[in-house]
Amino acid sequence: MSKRSIGVFAFSFQIAAMVIGSMAIAQSSVVVAILYPLGCIATFVVFVYTFCTKCPIRDGCIHVVHGMLAGIMPERSQGPYSVFDMIGPGLYFGFLAVFPQYWLLDSIYYLIAFWAILLTGLAVNSATLCRGCGNVNCPMRR
Ligand code: SF4
Repeated sequence: MSKRSIGVFAFSFQIAAMVIGSMAIAQSSVVVAILYPLGCIATFVVFVYTFCTKCPIRDGCIHVVHGMLAGIMPERSQGPYSVFDMIGPGLYFGFLAVFPQYWLLDSIYYLIAFWAILLTGLAVNSATLCRGCGNVNCPMRR
């Protein structure tokens, strides 16, 4: 399995967690259940703009989707990431993980599934993709 295939596979865990979060929210509010994935997409765009547009390997991004989106955005100068640059990843992962917690706490099954899937995806990322990643400035690189 190529690194790029693993990147798409690992990203699908985040999408699956988002779907589970949305399903849990839908038990109480269909409107919020629709707004949650839209918020995830919006914060993901901010993530890619503040982080991936500075990446030296975005054309061959091992996470694929991030690099493709970064490719249609204006390139930013490469170098160490500042606090501003880290706002995007923080916003995206913060929103993805924290926003649905209020509704997930209503169902232990949704709660366990959400965290199991999200953490598994992040573990796959960390174990297979962060090691030796070509983005030498990325703080997650090992
Ligand atoms: S390798 Fe990382 S920083 Fe570079 S484009 Fe892909 S996800 Fe973004």
